[in-house]
Amino acid sequence: MWRYLILNNIWFALLFLAQFFGNRRSRIFMRFVIVFALCLLLFRAGVDPFVWFFYGVFSWVVFQSAGRFRRWALLPAMVLNEELEIVSKQFKAKKELWQKKNQEDELLRHEAESLSYLYDKIKEMSQSLDSLETFVILGEALAKLTGFETIKLIELPDAPAVPVVHELSLASLEGALEWSELMSHRDRLKGEIYPSDKSILDRMLADRSFSENSDSGTAQGLWIGDKPTALFILRGASLGRRELISILIGRFLSEIQRIKLYERVEMLATTDSLTAVCVRRRLVERLEEEMERSRRFGLQCSFLMIDVDHFKSVNDHYGHLVGDMVLKQVAETIKKNIREVDLVGRYGGEEFGALLIETDTASAQMVAERIRRSMAERQFQAYDERLAVTVSIGCATVSTSMNAGQLVEAADAALYQAKRQGRNRVSVAVV
Ligand code: GH3
Ligand code: MG
Ligand code: MG
Repeated sequence: MWRYLILNNIWFALLFLAQFFGNRRSRIFMRFVIVFALCLLLFRAGVDPFVWFFYGVFSWVVFQSAGRFRRWALLPAMVLNEELEIVSKQFKAKKELWQKKNQEDELLRHEAESLSYLYDKIKEMSQSLDSLETFVILGEALAKLTGFETIKLIELPDAPAVPVVHELSLASLEGALEWSELMSHRDRLKGEIYPSDKSILDRMLADRSFSENSDSGTAQGLWIGDKPTALFILRGASLGRRELISILIGRFLSEIQRIKLYERVEMLATTDSLTAVCVRRRLVERLEEEMERSRRFGLQCSFLMIDVDHFKSVNDHYGHLVGDMVLKQVAETIKKNIREVDLVGRYGGEEFGALLIETDTASAQMVAERIRRSMAERQFQAYDERLAVTVSIGCATVSTSMNAGQLVEAADAALYQAKRQGRNRVSVAVV
């Protein structure tokens, strides 16, 4: 009897103490395990159901009182624990929020930096008057903001001139050149039209609002009025930043349009509408630049003053319209007899000037003679009229102390000498 009593007391004491360890979940679990073990023991021992009931109720009472005692005994610690738990949860949540904010801040900062860079590059593009320079600025911005494999700008001048192709591949640039250096290495940016470009170009020529976008790149056409003006192709674009790419390309094409319109206005202002050679102002400007360069590098350059002989009588005889056609053909003939680098301009009514770059007196005289002969030998065709026209040419070569006005004067004096000597001849100025 005493043995049972002692064992029971130890048993309930264990139950009581067990409520002070572990967390809430483990305590509940332990209660179940203990009650189950007790039931099993009692069952095996063949104990009376009344005793079962007694043990059950008593165990429950022990659990409850242990729980109450525990709460009472540990209340301050539990409160502290709970508070600690709440604070640590709040801290954790705040830390997560802070980290998220930090990430967002970082993203925002990055985005702001990108936008300010984009703004700078767009500003740079809008200040340029050179389509190649604008292309390089675009390449730099794309390389930094989005990445690409190649970009290509195909400029389409009026036929019969051939398209001008600028191409930039990021791989070819790496380590070799800085962006700023590219402008002085224009040859490196020269590109070709490959078959894949050709098919894009054909589609662009057939459609005024041409624009194509795919995962691997984009192609956009530029028409000014009824004229296809340029085609831009980007390959190997980064998928992530489509919006930036389209802003940049859109802006680039509108800057190219501005530059083309500017070039057109500039061309109209410096080109003689009847003969399509440059106007006197432009010719004199170029002459001054060239004389400066010649002085600096110790080169020679020459100037020819070409005047149509007895042109008044052509007008009187055939009328002004025929006279105009003849002037056009005179300009063409001069152009055909000089090099691409030389420049011909309409100096006055039926007077033309030709600037011969890096040309000494002997060569200039030869060129002048070639022009004179071509005029004398050709037939001028105007409406139904066929007529012959000759020119007289004054030729002057720059000497060190001369300015542009003096060179022109010398050529003019030589021209009048040629006139005096009987026309249809070349006279060389003695300077
Ligand atoms: P010279 O051999 O001495 O140069 O005689 P010229 O008749 O050519 O010279 P002049 O200066 O007496 O006459 C130039 C003529 O060129 C007068 C003008 O009517 C004509 N002229 C000037 N500009 C134009 C033009 O744009 N179209 C036409 N059809 N004629 C022009
Ligand atoms: Mg004349
Ligand atoms: Mg004249």
